[in-house]
Formats: sequence, structure tokens, C-alpha cells
Amino acid sequence: MRFLALGILAALAGTAHADDRNYAPVIAEIRPAPTRVATANAALATDPAELDSFCRRIDAKLSSVHHAECLSIGLLDSGADSNNRTPLLYKDFLPAEGKPIARVLLVGGIHGDEYSSVSIVFKWLAMLDEDLGERFHWRVVPVLNPDGLLRPPRMSQRVNANGVDLNRNFPTPNWEVEAPAYWEKRTWKNKRRYPGPSALSEPESAWLAEQIQAFEPHAVVSVHAPHGVVDFDGPRVPPRQLGPLELRLLGTYPGSMGRYIGIHKGIPLLTLELESAFGMPAQDEVYAIWYDMLGWLHEKIALPLKLAEEKRAPVNELMRAGKDADTEG
Ligand SMILES: [Zn+2]
Repeated sequence: MRFLALGILAALAGTAHADDRNYAPVIAEIRPAPTRVATANAALATDPAELDSFCRRIDAKLSSVHHAECLSIGLLDSGADSNNRTPLLYKDFLPAEGKPIARVLLVGGIHGDEYSSVSIVFKWLAMLDEDLGERFHWRVVPVLNPDGLLRPPRMSQRVNANGVDLNRNFPTPNWEVEAPAYWEKRTWKNKRRYPGPSALSEPESAWLAEQIQAFEPHAVVSVHAPHGVVDFDGPRVPPRQLGPLELRLLGTYPGSMGRYIGIHKGIPLLTLELESAFGMPAQDEVYAIWYDMLGWLHEKIALPLKLAEEKRAPVNELMRAGKDADTEG
């Protein structure tokens, strides 16, 4: 699809000399065509006006993500909305050729005041659009908490529109007791850490939990700021360093993604804590974190899956051989 679109572009470019003005709008229409669209879940066609409005608000909020860049990703409407009725948008990327070696869910902007955690995911979306995701199947959610982020200037907030810290709202075991108790006794009812009235009370966290069910990721990457480290929860050897971010295990909390996804669900969860919530990492660091992460995903996620598959294969062949022998006998 992608190559076809490029081919059409090339063909148009070849004929465009005759009258550039006639062809320019056609090229502009073809360029944003979505590539490698999700097939795992039926996504809705994104309403162009809604996407345009979303990208304008992103542009106004984040100095390093421009309107056209946001539009060009071709984000899909999940069909789910935030509390303030902003669509929760995502995009899937499959390898250009062959079967994916593992599924990875990448989530930015869980906390609305961590701007860099959204901006860097947009940079990686652009890289994925250039086929730099290697052989993984990526599902990317650039902004899980749009209501917290897309508020008037200088008013972005960690929590969602209901004042809930989404990263304390996931259904970890015994949430009903532990999450409120932790909030009251350990954070002194800190409003930035309110876990909500019940687990998954919020449309944003409920939708992400659905994605875990439906997409069945082999690994999840969640982006935050500003601790400047990489944190890890779950059953694998963590990376020692991703770009400038060194490993530091921060522990988990009742209702946190680390405890829910990493510990309870047993899905390896990388938590990237960028160094600044407002400033983006340098361009070389954006690349370094990405490629170090790909290296870790290959070694600790895809390779064990491949080895497990190879181990199973001979047994299946033996079973088939046995079955054939039986029928012949
Ligand atoms: Zn955060």
C-alpha cells in the first residue's frame, strides 16, 4: 500500500512539470494516506474535522509537534473518548514484510503535564512511518490523557478531567482497599495522586485496559518525565540503559501500570522517565533511546518468543508423524 502510494507520487511527480498547480493538490491528498492500518481491532475512520482540531490543539500546546506533522501520521479513532469527549487516538504499524516477531504497545501522555512524554512519541511515530520499527507490530497511543494535556496555556495537569491520576486507576489486586489507603496515608491525599472512586472508573484507563486484552502485547512501553531514568516491572531482565536513561527500579503503587501490567498481568513493562517534562531530549537522544529499546526488545522479548516457538515445533512434527503412522496402520 505504502509503496503503491509512493509509486503514484513518483508518477505524479514525473508529470507535474507540465503544470505544477494542477497536480499539487492531488499530491497533497495522496500523501497523508494511512499506511499499515490496524487490523487487530476495527478502528473507526477518523473524522477529518475532529483530527484537524486535535492536531491544532497539540500544535498549540507542544512546541516541537506541528499541526501538519500530527496530521500526517494518520491517527485512527479508537471509538473511545476521554471524559471531555476528545477521541482517544492510536496507530498500528506492521513490518513492511513478513510476520511480526512480537507486539509492543507504546503509550505517551498518561500524565497531562509531562509534555515531553507526548512529543517524543510523535517523533517515534514519524520514525515508525518511515519503517524504522523493525519487525515488531506496534500499537502507539501518543496521548492517553488528552484532557490533562490539552488545557489552556500553563494549566495542563497530571490528572484527567475528573481529577484522577490514571496511573493509580488500574485494577491491581485488592485495589478497593489498597489504593485509597495508600492515597490517604502515604500521600496525605495528594490531589495529584488521587486513584479515583474505583478501579477503571475513567474512560482513559478503561480503554487502555481493553487494549491490553485485545492487542495482547508482549511488552508495553510507557513514557513519563522528569526522573531521567528507565524503570522496569515484570518478568524479563531489564535494560541497563536506554540512550541517556539508566536503569533505576522505582517500585510500584496500588493501581499503577507497573503493578497492573508488569506484576499482575506479567507483561514486561518499560517505563521511560525522560529528564525534563517540558524540554525534549536532544535529537541524537531521541534516536539513541529508540534504538537501544529496539535492541532490548529483540534480545529480551522477540528472541525468547522465537526460541519457545522453535522448541514447540519439533514436538508438533513428531505428533503429526505419529498421527500419520496411526492412520496408515
Ligand atoms: Zn508521569
